[in-house]
Amino acid sequence: MPNASHPHPPPPAPDEPYELTVLNPSTEEVVATVPGATAVDVDRAVTRAAGAQHTWAGLAPGDRARALRRFAAAVDAHLEELADLEVREAGHTIGNARWEAGNVRDLLDYAAGGVERLCGRQIPVAGGLDVTILEPLGVVGVIAPWNFPLPIAAWGTAPALAAGNAVLLKPAETTPLTALRLAELGRESGLPEHLFQVLPGAGRIAGDALVTHPGVAKIVFTGSTAVGKTIMAKCADRVKRVTLELGGKSPNLVFADADIEAAAAAAPLSFLDNSGQDCCARTRILVQDTVYERFLSLLAPAVEAVRVGDPADERTQMGPLISRAQLDRVRGYVSDDLPGIRGRCPDGPGFWFPPTVLTGLAPDAPAATEEVFGPVAVVLPFRDEAEAVRLANATEYGLAGSVWTRDLGRALRVCGAVAAGNLSVNSHSSVRYWTPFGGFKQSGLGRELGPDALAAFTETKNVFLNTEV
Ligand code: NAD
Repeated sequence: MPNASHPHPPPPAPDEPYELTVLNPSTEEVVATVPGATAVDVDRAVTRAAGAQHTWAGLAPGDRARALRRFAAAVDAHLEELADLEVREAGHTIGNARWEAGNVRDLLDYAAGGVERLCGRQIPVAGGLDVTILEPLGVVGVIAPWNFPLPIAAWGTAPALAAGNAVLLKPAETTPLTALRLAELGRESGLPEHLFQVLPGAGRIAGDALVTHPGVAKIVFTGSTAVGKTIMAKCADRVKRVTLELGGKSPNLVFADADIEAAAAAAPLSFLDNSGQDCCARTRILVQDTVYERFLSLLAPAVEAVRVGDPADERTQMGPLISRAQLDRVRGYVSDDLPGIRGRCPDGPGFWFPPTVLTGLAPDAPAATEEVFGPVAVVLPFRDEAEAVRLANATEYGLAGSVWTRDLGRALRVCGAVAAGNLSVNSHSSVRYWTPFGGFKQSGLGRELGPDALAAFTETKNVFLNTEV
């Protein structure tokens, strides 16, 4: 029986039943068990989704937009319930979970606003009229990770639906509950039956069935770079469209001319938010050598002051890691003898790891180059702007980054030189639903969110009408 605690059982038959066990990461108590989708379930879902998509794409744009606004209103009416579920299945702090549920509502509203604005073009030609038509792709598979189960499910789902597609969403093994509730809310709000279906299941069973199914036109995958590469290779077999949002090891560059107090105050939550299980976490803090000691002396009390504990408590800033496997993985990077700053966390049941800053590591140490995906950052000194950029780019990833400086010219130069998709100056913001998001290098392929989100779920058809006959 494959489940989250047995990541590599032998491959099952396509219709062999299995269950997912959902644990509360802060108590280790079972929250629910959920039947896992088999390859046969996926096949049936694709057939049903294709029928629903045909009808959906034929609706007037205004009617599709209204249906998505009703879905957004249903999410809005159940924000607290969704947030509570996110706290219990993912261990997110209640403040973050409320924001995440609100983000789903906003994504649906924003996508609804794009339905009537999804325009083709008229291109000048001789002897006729040339127009482009943006057609929906058909059935889209969205494969989501466990670190932001609600928002990332909606990043793909909302624009895909708005552009006239059906969506099959496969949530991560450990976090299927909010996705299942979202699908119920979609149905209750009046979305056509089978248009948006959730297939909770194991990646190599339900996920793989979506990736390889000939009836699925596009895969939107968010997860690890290793799995993303295998998915891209399988999609190549059918030239299936693919968007990949993968890992990160993002730099936070602090120059000597910056507001050092502000930079040190902002640094902890830039890598501790969501217990560091954030693809944009600023886990490589690069500090100019002339202010290195001062920065560390300000950073230490700020890290130690982060409140770690019960995620349902309104005052909590950081909760547990998602699972025992993730806890073991993070522990593997942090031996007790490494110098640095350590915060506090609860002991007893739950997957707890304290806020941790490592100093004195070589720039090529595993903790300084690999995505730890836990509350762990490294601090490295640099001499000048050229070395800062070189260190920032010394990674296979290129998702996000921050630059702290008061020099506007330097801010623009460094943003130009750092190879990453999402940069911020004197701030750590990365994600807004109305600005584009995605990675350079091995952090991903394609962009989500922002004004072009719907277009990524269309095929452009060019039509020439001859006016000379
Ligand atoms: P993961 O790659 O293990 O799993 C992600 C999803 O893929 C899950 O739903 C899983 O079931 C599924 N999956 C696993 N194997 C599969 C297969 N062979 N075929 C099809 N589907 C399969 O990643 P994770 O541990 O859940 O998530 C953490 C990773 O996600 C981190 O690397 C993080 O950086 C990345 N991430 C990236 C972004 C971004 O936008 N760039 C956002 C969030 C998370």
